[in-house]
Amino acid sequence: MRKQIAAANWKMNLTYKQGEQLLDDILEERIALADHQQVIFAVPFPYLIMTSSELAGEANYFAAAQNCYHKKSGAFTGEVSAEMLESVGIKYCVVGHSERREYFSETNAMLAEKLDLCLAAGIKPIFCCGEPLTIREADQHNNFVETQLRESLFHLSAQQLGDVVIAYEPIWAIGTGKTATTEQAQEIHAHIRSVIAAKYGKKAADGISILYGGSVKAGNAKELFSCPDVDGGLVGGASLVAADFTKIIRALS
Ligand code: PEP
Repeated sequence: MRKQIAAANWKMNLTYKQGEQLLDDILEERIALADHQQVIFAVPFPYLIMTSSELAGEANYFAAAQNCYHKKSGAFTGEVSAEMLESVGIKYCVVGHSERREYFSETNAMLAEKLDLCLAAGIKPIFCCGEPLTIREADQHNNFVETQLRESLFHLSAQQLGDVVIAYEPIWAIGTGKTATTEQAQEIHAHIRSVIAAKYGKKAADGISILYGGSVKAGNAKELFSCPDVDGGLVGGASLVAADFTKIIRALS
């Protein structure tokens, strides 16, 4: 059974103390996860160790980095490598969030390098893809996302792909309050899975978790997660409020 995942993306929000309090408030709910369910907190770099230690002993809860650099090591002041993340016990890293693509000019080719470095370091990437509004309006979203997958992901072996989580995040839905309908989400998630099946076979496609991201809220999570090809969510704004994120965790199937 493939993993159903609620992943929080704090982005550049919260102080250390606020982050610690938020984790405490969420963990206080003592939501027991089934074996196939996971909760992941993608937090700012300075909070990774605190987050890992808060989650220590909590089965199926993990800390994640929001990014890593696309080179192995060296003179890249201010950057953090996948190997460094692994060395402090991190198991997941978000790769290719649309904000990184837009504000930091990350290309599909750079993201391919990041995926390689994460996997080589034993870190599972949460690979983000998704189209801008103009592409959706031109009805080109399936092709657009397929290109993102081909250029960043499809050089991986089937075994490596088994360690990747995909997050489909339409850019027009991120932080806008405008969520994809369940029909829109299911349609493109099924397309992503079919493209993976064509390249890697049905077994690989059936095993990969594909999360939906884009204004997931406490009130719409259940409906979105009930789509057969939606395996949970990558959640920005609503992950900053304990009462909302706990409802989203409980919406996992
Ligand atoms: C995100 O940060 O990936 C995201 C989907 O944000 P929001 O839930 O706020 O739209």
